[in-house]
Amino acid sequence: MAVIKEESNLKSIIFNIQRYSIHDGPGIRTTIFIKGCPLHCGWCSNPESQSSKPEIIVRDIKCISCGKCAEICPQGAIKLVESEFTESRPVVKAPANIFQPFTNPVAALKSQTSNKPEKKRIIDWSKCDQCLKCAEVCPSKSIDISGRQVDVAECLEEVLKDKGFYDEDGGMTISGGEPLTQIDFIKELFMASKMEGLNTAIDTTGYSSWDNMEKIIPYVDLFLYDIKQMDPKIHEQETGVTNQLILSNLKKLAKTDTRIWIRCPLIPGFNDSKKNISQLAGFVKDLGGAVEKVSLLPYHSYGETKYDSTGRIYPYAGKQEQSRENLESLKDILEARDLKVSVGG
Ligand code: SF4
Ligand code: SF4
Repeated sequence: MAVIKEESNLKSIIFNIQRYSIHDGPGIRTTIFIKGCPLHCGWCSNPESQSSKPEIIVRDIKCISCGKCAEICPQGAIKLVESEFTESRPVVKAPANIFQPFTNPVAALKSQTSNKPEKKRIIDWSKCDQCLKCAEVCPSKSIDISGRQVDVAECLEEVLKDKGFYDEDGGMTISGGEPLTQIDFIKELFMASKMEGLNTAIDTTGYSSWDNMEKIIPYVDLFLYDIKQMDPKIHEQETGVTNQLILSNLKKLAKTDTRIWIRCPLIPGFNDSKKNISQLAGFVKDLGGAVEKVSLLPYHSYGETKYDSTGRIYPYAGKQEQSRENLESLKDILEARDLKVSVGG
């Protein structure tokens, strides 16, 4: 049984608990994903992490066209429209582009076979106020809710289920979103985890008050600290905030004896230039050996489908991954400053 302060009733909204993770710190880990982030990075692979509130997430393939969601939606944001097939592609008769049509292979097959029009559920996201009512009535979970409230004990119980797999290196990581937005909750979860003998890590944007960051240092074994762009104006253009607080906190953190890994997600045209990585190398070097390693995280678009599923537009559509040569040249820049570098998680 987990050891928790008896009086604790702290809760937080999370959107996932990822078990057997090998990309969120050393060893095998269980990662808790907190919902809510002060940054709004256009490439975010978990766009549903940005809002601190629960929201709907749709999986079109599960829809059975029952119409319950359209009946209950108070905003009139959902409609079922007729669709028909031409050759192998469905054509949805939507009244305007603001409604997102979708392809349901099951319905498509039925339609092709029977030659009768199928009903398709479409959502006008501009009308949706995230009341969640449609998700509550959807019998097939085609509309589901991302984000649920949990308490510290519930989280810890989940983490402890995998304790046998953690070995010497693994343990619990709290990620997000930005975990430091829920400072009281994560502090208590870290404290309880240490009482259970777990290795602990946080994956942070660094965008928080220093007071908050300082509160968890005694209970965190490793900081996975994101540095995205060294130029404050470019940083602000793409994330919504400047990097000054992030870099200032990192300087302070480097003066403690906390383990730090820097993580830099490489985003095409935003920060994967030699100039930016050279500036990053210089900054990390000036921290005087406090950083154990720098991880360059090559660009991928795995999260793109989540933008459709949550009514967002993916601004990096069509961007290409960095070539091996490009990654090697960026790695060389950091290694030339005697920094330990890894490519990937
Ligand atoms: S969450 Fe949005 S789409 Fe669903 S019922 Fe509420 S307003 Fe309508
Ligand atoms: S999304 Fe759910 S409630 Fe709406 S039509 Fe499809 S199955 Fe029915």
